[in-house]
Amino acid sequence: MIGANERTLNKVRGTGIGLLSQDPLSSLTPHLRVETLLTEGLLDRGLANRAEAHERALQALVEVGIAEPAARLRQYPHELSGGMRQRVALAAALMCAPELLFADEPTTALDVSVQARVLELLAGVRDRGVGVLLITHDLGVVAGLADRVAVMYAGRIVETAPTDELFSAPQHPYTAALLAAVPRLHGDAQSQLVGIPGDPPQPSARPPGCAFAARCVRAVAVCSESRPELTQCAGRNQVSSLARRSSGADCSAGSADHHGRLSSVVARTG
Ligand code: SF4
Repeated sequence: MIGANERTLNKVRGTGIGLLSQDPLSSLTPHLRVETLLTEGLLDRGLANRAEAHERALQALVEVGIAEPAARLRQYPHELSGGMRQRVALAAALMCAPELLFADEPTTALDVSVQARVLELLAGVRDRGVGVLLITHDLGVVAGLADRVAVMYAGRIVETAPTDELFSAPQHPYTAALLAAVPRLHGDAQSQLVGIPGDPPQPSARPPGCAFAARCVRAVAVCSESRPELTQCAGRNQVSSLARRSSGADCSAGSADHHGRLSSVVARTG
């Protein structure tokens, strides 16, 4: 889609892709009633007449679990609760039946019970055959919803794998560090929370080699010189790492060791 003109983009928006963003109060136009927000995509594209669009909007609100849908259609976004606004935003994103839904931190601004309901709805959308591309920092949300995960660092994918494999055997040092940093409910109450020392590079000053090198416990000299590319690893993971290539080590055999070393090093320094 990069470089596509406005006409092409408009064809894809709504029908090809839908967007559910983090903050529904910002993403829902405040001076439009819910009915207009839900139906304008259908009407603008000539996919329904006004009566049909009204019926579809009512049905869409029922599908996202909103009671009294006829009354809600007459309301403005600021008159709804945060959870209801996010469900209206989801209904709006699905009105033109997109093939792919981008969900960008869709639960970050919600309390835990509403978060669970929105995740349930997203799982239902996925099960209906709509592709869901979830962008999130919440590993719990990833574990509960995603079939496959791509871990990004400094704007690049550093590891991608089926969700269960990524969580049980992370191959990239950054993935392992992220998982080690998740607080454990049943861990030792006195133990320190593990962190990742240092900061990510500024986008305007990316290093020539691996962007994670300054923070990586497995870094070797070549890591600061060449940028690693994604390569197939043991199992179904794809990983970008130069240490593995330069040492010739098998990454799956090394992953548990990565994790242990990383946890202990970060705990000491963090
Ligand atoms: S390329 Fe080197 S610095 Fe980067 S993650 Fe792999 S081992 Fe660490």
